[in-house]
Amino acid sequence: MSLETLLKERIAASGPLTVADYIAEALLNPDHGYYPTRTPFGAAGDFTTAPEISQMFGALIGLCLAHSWMDQGAPARFTLAELGPGRGTLMADALRATARVPGFGAAADIVLVEASPQLRKAQADTLDDFEVRWVDGAADLPSDAPLWCVANEFFDALPIRQFVRDADGWRERCIGAQDGALSFGLAPAGEQPQLNHRLEDTQDGDVVETCAAAHAILSELGHRINGRGGVALIIDYGDWRALGDTLQAVRGHERADLLDAPGTADITAHVDFEALAQAAAPAAHTRLTPQGVFLERLGITARAQALAKPLEGAALETHVAAHRRLTHPDEMGNLFKVLGLFPATAAPPPGLST
Ligand code: SAH
Repeated sequence: MSLETLLKERIAASGPLTVADYIAEALLNPDHGYYPTRTPFGAAGDFTTAPEISQMFGALIGLCLAHSWMDQGAPARFTLAELGPGRGTLMADALRATARVPGFGAAADIVLVEASPQLRKAQADTLDDFEVRWVDGAADLPSDAPLWCVANEFFDALPIRQFVRDADGWRERCIGAQDGALSFGLAPAGEQPQLNHRLEDTQDGDVVETCAAAHAILSELGHRINGRGGVALIIDYGDWRALGDTLQAVRGHERADLLDAPGTADITAHVDFEALAQAAAPAAHTRLTPQGVFLERLGITARAQALAKPLEGAALETHVAAHRRLTHPDEMGNLFKVLGLFPATAAPPPGLST
């Protein structure tokens, strides 16, 4: 039975789904969900992420984390975590690049937060040379050690709810079934106290998105980092305060209909970085910084030139294109943003400022 049929049965039995319920099933249903059943990344998959474009990305993230670890006194034991590591490429590149930072690798307890069993296997293969372990959620990260962590294109994959402003309050967008097909509808208007601050910047008809899962995760990270030390680097596309319907489905590098064949397309929404930063309090946060600016400050151009030296022909062209793709404002450089979290008493991580 397809996921679409299962969802229609669920709707018939217990009523429309919230957008968040729908996304959670479409992405993570163990038998039919997108992440557990597909190989989403790379040219043959549905999308390409920064670590899959060039090893420079993971290497610079690793060096940024190691630098801030030294800034905070190089604690002898700390958690080095990644949320949603995909194929494990970023972590592998980060560990290779930091191998010569004295004491860093030996002090790191490497923990991966991953929901998909299939991707855990892929990560185990990529990270074969390292001792790593997995947990189901951020709440399972050690709470008695400092935490250095990274999340690239993780928060955009978390289920969001959508609310439409209306004269009588907020109406939640839901998914029901009409004439045998999944279709969007609106729940009756109601109060949404968590959206009171959005009354100031919205009008009737505007769509606002909330992500309860992100809020819970940031609160876990913020407490650990502020209490024990550490840093979080969050890289994603989105903005400081999101407005409008930002949901999108992508299949085979093309936009797809959100409700068509659930489980076969990737579904993402823009990240509301303001909401993340607020949920992480009392940890301090950096200014939201474009990925291109962040990577330039970390020295990507010098690194790209050094790596280019032995290359020629097609290999050189690919390398130059990868550098451009990661940093150029017309490519990922402006679309993707970086937010850093750090203890209120410490310095922000390299490449970011307050
Ligand atoms: N960071 C990787 C992959 C991004 S795709 C890269 O840049 O290439 C999103 C990743 O988050 C996948 O590994 C997916 O399985 C994982 N994921 C999605 N929702 C999750 C959840 N609720 N809990 C844990 N992992 C999740």
